[in-house]
Amino acid sequence: MSKGITLSPKHGVNASMDICFWCGEPKGILMCGMMKGDAEAPKGMVTSLEPCDKCKENFGLGVQIVEVIDDGSRFENNLIFSIKDEDGKVKWPTGRFVVMKADAINGAEAGSVMLCTPETMDKILEKHDKKAKESEGSSDTGEANANEEDAKEEK
Ligand SMILES: [Zn+2]
Repeated sequence: MSKGITLSPKHGVNASMDICFWCGEPKGILMCGMMKGDAEAPKGMVTSLEPCDKCKENFGLGVQIVEVIDDGSRFENNLIFSIKDEDGKVKWPTGRFVVMKADAINGAEAGSVMLCTPETMDKILEKHDKKAKESEGSSDTGEANANEEDAKEEK
């Protein structure tokens, strides 16, 4: 399976949590071992865009709409955090996404993924918030995950 790790003299297996990019929950444990400069591994790391089991289930219920941007420089060109659009262009998810019922989107299938711009995501979330206010307690449009840290508000 794995090639094995080189133990860190200071931190041993140097364990870290493998964090789900989508929900921020731990999905496993990473053994980092000897890292550059014998650094201590962070408490948690996102190592891929692979969703955790809970997110997988959630995404399968509808269409996952993912906010992406063109500029991935803040990810230091780490391609594991990129998504390709229909034209094969590399896009970078910001961490904001919603899952919508497939029948709410024309021609969409449950379990599929759609990419959108931050502007579109703002509109979707705005609509979602309005709906949520109108019908308290109902979550018909699915769960909204707004990562405020990543959402750069330009107002
Ligand atoms: Zn998750």
